[in-house]
Amino acid sequence: MSAVRIVAVLALAAGLLVPPTAAAQPAPDGDADQPEFSLEDLDALLEEDELKESVASLSAAEIGDIVGMALVLGFAVFSFTRKSVPLKYVSFAGSIAYLGFYKSNLVSIVNIFAILEGNFPDVRHSIPWYLLIGFTTVSTVLWGRLYCGRICAFGAFTQLLDRVMPARLRFDPPASLDRRLAYIKYVILGVVLLYFFASGDFLVYRYVEPFWMFTLSGNVLMWTLLGTLLLATILVRNLYCRYLCSVGAALGLISNLTVFKIKRWTECQGCKICEKACEWGAIDGPKISLAECVRCDDCERLYDDEEKCVHWLILRKKPKAQPASS
Ligand code: SF4
Ligand code: SF4
Repeated sequence: MSAVRIVAVLALAAGLLVPPTAAAQPAPDGDADQPEFSLEDLDALLEEDELKESVASLSAAEIGDIVGMALVLGFAVFSFTRKSVPLKYVSFAGSIAYLGFYKSNLVSIVNIFAILEGNFPDVRHSIPWYLLIGFTTVSTVLWGRLYCGRICAFGAFTQLLDRVMPARLRFDPPASLDRRLAYIKYVILGVVLLYFFASGDFLVYRYVEPFWMFTLSGNVLMWTLLGTLLLATILVRNLYCRYLCSVGAALGLISNLTVFKIKRWTECQGCKICEKACEWGAIDGPKISLAECVRCDDCERLYDDEEKCVHWLILRKKPKAQPASS
C-alpha cells in the first residue's frame, strides 16, 4: 500500500474525511448492507489530483517528522531507563543531529510565549510540535528535567563539549556561589516574559537563547555572544543550562512536581561521593534540588554501585547473622 493510501486510510479512520453525521446516513440506493465508504470510493477520491497532492505532501512532511521525533524521544527514554553512558551519548548525538541541525526544533522561550497566550498550532499539521511539548511537560512531571539532561540539542552539545575539553581548563564555582548563580535563570525568565507581554516582541529570543545556532543564521552580535558563551562554557561546565536558560528555569519550576524522585540512602547524610560527581550542582548533602537536577543519572549509577556506594560497602562489612546452634 502506498504512503498516499496509508495516510488517506488513517484520515478516514480518524473521521477526518467523512463527518460522522454523513457516515451514519443509509446508502442512496437503500442497500443497508453497503459499506458507507468503500475502497472504490477511496480510489475515486484519490483520482482527484488536488487531494492526492495534498495527502502526498502530508505523508512526506508529517509521517517523516512524526517518526523522526518519536524515535529521538523514544530512544532518550530508553537510554534513561537503561542508565547506560554509551546509550546516553548516542541519544546526545541523535538530538544534536536531528533536533538541532536537521530540524532546528528545540523547546524555546517562544513556545512558552505561545502557550501562555493560548496560541496553539493546528494539530494536524504540527504533530511533532505536540509530541515534543507534550513529552517535555509529561516527562518533567514524571522525572524532572529529563529534557535538559538528554533531549535539548544545545544541552547535549555542551555536555559533549565538556567531555572533549581538558579538565584542567575547568573552574568549578564553590557551592554557595553556584546556588546564587542558579537564580539568574529565573530572573531572566521573569524579565523576558514581562518584556514580551509588554511589547509583543518575540524576537527577543535571539538574545536570550543560543538555539538559533543550529540554523547557522545569526547576525554579528548574535555570533559574538554565542562565541563568548561557548568559551565561558569550556571554563564552567554546563554554564548556560545551569545559570542562564529561561527554558531550563521554566522546566525547573515544573520539576518541583517530580513524581519519580531519585532515591537516597540514609548513608547519603554524611557521604559526599554523589555530591562531588554531580556536574550540575544539584546535590547538597542528602538533598537533591529537583529544579537543578537534569536526571543525567550519574549519581543513580553510583547509588547502585556496590563497589563505590557507602551504603553497600557498610552492608558488606556488617557481620552476617550466625545460624542458631542446635
Ligand atoms: S537548560 Fe536550556 S539549554 Fe540547557 S538543556 Fe535545558 S533547555 Fe537546553
Ligand atoms: S548527578 Fe544526580 S542529582 Fe546531579 S544532575 Fe545527575 S541525576 Fe541529578
